Amino acid sequence: MPSDSAPKIDGARLWERLMALARIGATGRGGVDRQALTDNDAAAWRQLIQWSVIHKLRAERDDAGNFFLTLPGTDPSLPPVLIGSHLDTQTTGGMFDGAFGVLAALECASAIADAGIRPPRTLTVVAWMNQTGSRFAPGMMGSAVFAGARRLVDIRAVSDAARVTVGAALDKRQGAVPLPDRPIGFPFAAYIEAHIEQATILEAANLPIGIVTGIQGKKTWRVDIRGAEGDAGTAAMATRRDAVATMALLISALYGEVAIADPAVKFTVGRVTVDPNAPAIVAGRASFTIDLRHPDHAVLKRLGAKVEMLCKMLARPCAVRLERLDNAPPMAFDARLLDWIESVAEAAGHGSMRLLSAAGHDARYMARLAPSAMIFIPCRGGISHAETEWAEPAHVTAGAEVLLGSVLPLLTS
Ligand SMILES: [Zn+2]
Repeated sequence: MPSDSAPKIDGARLWERLMALARIGATGRGGVDRQALTDNDAAAWRQLIQWSVIHKLRAERDDAGNFFLTLPGTDPSLPPVLIGSHLDTQTTGGMFDGAFGVLAALECASAIADAGIRPPRTLTVVAWMNQTGSRFAPGMMGSAVFAGARRLVDIRAVSDAARVTVGAALDKRQGAVPLPDRPIGFPFAAYIEAHIEQATILEAANLPIGIVTGIQGKKTWRVDIRGAEGDAGTAAMATRRDAVATMALLISALYGEVAIADPAVKFTVGRVTVDPNAPAIVAGRASFTIDLRHPDHAVLKRLGAKVEMLCKMLARPCAVRLERLDNAPPMAFDARLLDWIESVAEAAGHGSMRLLSAAGHDARYMARLAPSAMIFIPCRGGISHAETEWAEPAHVTAGAEVLLGSVLPLLTS
């Protein structure tokens, strides 16, 4: 029953909802398979709608498949505060990635509704469509379209391994869970996303709250090497144009000169292909991918230029073509929001520290539109996107408490 008192996080209710949501797509080994725009994903929407009915939240969606639960404020002229994350998982995902942020946000809206108070500003809980990119690559589709970084028509054309397009899956879901429509990219006052850390910094520091200062930058490439096929027994070494030899030289130079440039560099060659990939044939073609990340924009730029220079310098006697894929600069969250969240954590008695997110999140796109921030809680061993993903109930509650404390004043200003 609603009661006129300060809103308070109900940690037991939040934990029960997390466990119940984890049953939708449960793998049977502690994990969750709830990929974007599947029947399980639709069932998760239905479950959240069911929970939110008693709190009188308004359920809506937009054409990009983003899902909204709204607690209306008394002044509809004020743009809402957005809080949330994502509900989709990898095929062998965990119970907390994304789900924690959405359910912590729902718990904040539930707590405010239960307290019987109605702030001037509207609070909207959001679940972004396809953050993980597990079924449809790349991820962060819903938030990218919402922020105008990608076009709806382009993401609708992307297909999964079974050749089902995002467009067809979106239309199917709209039929399965029909909801009123909201315009893509509607204005909002601020965005805060709570998430598990997916690394071990908080665990090592034995602190329940991370104030996320930003997201490290990332550049990715595909490198195609074209040489000439030859017979392993007869082709003269001096005149070979061996694509594997060039690839080996290039990769070792990249590891030697880029990967170890400083301790903050993350450098990965993740996929390698060789054609024809036969034991007695000099390969005519080879390709590999490069994933380069760094928190400092200037360093990322400099190392990116070095990658491209080495690929040009070491190409001969083959031809090397470099295709740029991602180019996401490092980004920083709103300084005033970070200060505020830090003071909220301190006042609540939850120890916190500032840290950088190594992984990408939907908040990256929201930061383009309005002041944005993220709150991390630890996850055991830093393990995420795995069935063994685990967060402690006390940390889940602490994260939701800091989120609620951060959001409340934003609703009255
Ligand atoms: Zn996530």
